[in-house]
Amino acid sequence: MASVWQAARVAATTTTIFAEMSALAVATESVNLGQGFPDTDGPDFMLDEARMAIATGINQYPPGRGIRPLRQAISDHCRRHYGLTYDPETEVLVTTGATEALAATILAFVDPGDEVVALEPFYDSYAASIELAGGRRVGVGLFGPDFRLDHGELAAAFTDRTKALIINTPHNPTGVVLDRADLAEIARLAVQHDVLVICDEVYEHLTFDDAEHLPLAGFPGMRERTIRISSAGKTFSATGWKIGWALSTPELITGITAVKQFLTYVSGAPFQPAVARALNEGDDWVEFARRELQGKRDRLAAGLREVGLEPVIPRGTYFMSTDVRPLGYTDGVEFCRDLPARCGVVAIPHQVFYDNVEAGRPYVRWAFCKQDHVLDEAISRLHQLAEPRHRAREAARPSPV
Ligand code: PMP
Ligand code: GLN
Repeated sequence: MASVWQAARVAATTTTIFAEMSALAVATESVNLGQGFPDTDGPDFMLDEARMAIATGINQYPPGRGIRPLRQAISDHCRRHYGLTYDPETEVLVTTGATEALAATILAFVDPGDEVVALEPFYDSYAASIELAGGRRVGVGLFGPDFRLDHGELAAAFTDRTKALIINTPHNPTGVVLDRADLAEIARLAVQHDVLVICDEVYEHLTFDDAEHLPLAGFPGMRERTIRISSAGKTFSATGWKIGWALSTPELITGITAVKQFLTYVSGAPFQPAVARALNEGDDWVEFARRELQGKRDRLAAGLREVGLEPVIPRGTYFMSTDVRPLGYTDGVEFCRDLPARCGVVAIPHQVFYDNVEAGRPYVRWAFCKQDHVLDEAISRLHQLAEPRHRAREAARPSPV
């Protein structure tokens, strides 16, 4: 129950769906295809570097903007991959995960009453941070069954109160990677309406087939109004390290840093040299991990098909979505609640990412960043979905003593 002292601003804030479903997976000994975290580690040389940093006394507050070698590595990596240049002294800020970069950016630039346009379904922290800032979120649908961006709907979302746009590509939970035409239209509208653009690119290196991640900051008129946000957690399989970063102009980075210093002050000292090394030397590892992940995507997709769930094949991220209606459900939340008891698997209902709950109702999200034997076990358990629902409910009921 909520405390009587709770601020109205956070009245709707509850335990995140990811934490809730991971706890349920542990409690029910289910295979957890819910929360997006890999079950294998990043490159050994990166892990060794962090161990060495701890052993050699890199354990006190680092500089507020991040250690210089990491800021340099971030800048070099961005230039090498996209040809975009950022000055490591003034245009790079290391943060406590992408989550803090997003929160600090939103708190720095969104005033009460400002509107923030975001692709819906949206990642849960956007809604929470916009709410903390007193802003109003305006969703533009990437809705099923094809999860495409409707340019007309995007254009119609802008008003004279629009302050910022949050673009997430590759997109969680749909796996959509926005193409050049989508990004060009977003850039045109952002310039026309003179708004700030917050680009959540945490899955930038997890793209499949012929999909190419293009940073919006590279489009005409965008460099000076865009904040690029990335995460070492996703790129190097270290979600628990919580090292992310924001790249933008000196003025925008100064504004974000002002807020960041009162959220966390600084971020994880011993992880910073390790992430710097991974950025400098880890391109081959990332390419290997990306190819492996594409194989896992195909493995889970084939398994879901076997049990009657046709997946929407993602072109990026480590998530795929299915419509649960072929299995006799109309509601993804009901499906995900039943799933642990029926067969010992956890997934995430799309609905929690939507304001327009109806648009997300029949979809669920499955994470495939797991070892092959874990995916195989999940698929083998999902075959039990062929059993009638009432039998599984009986089995889940505690037996009388
Ligand atoms: N944005 C998106 C779209 C995400 O899926 C996540 C979750 N990993 C984050 C941001 C947060 O990243 P981090 O763990 O680096 O805070
Ligand atoms: N981004 C991860 C996901 O979408 C979860 C991160 C979190 O739990 N905050 O599953």
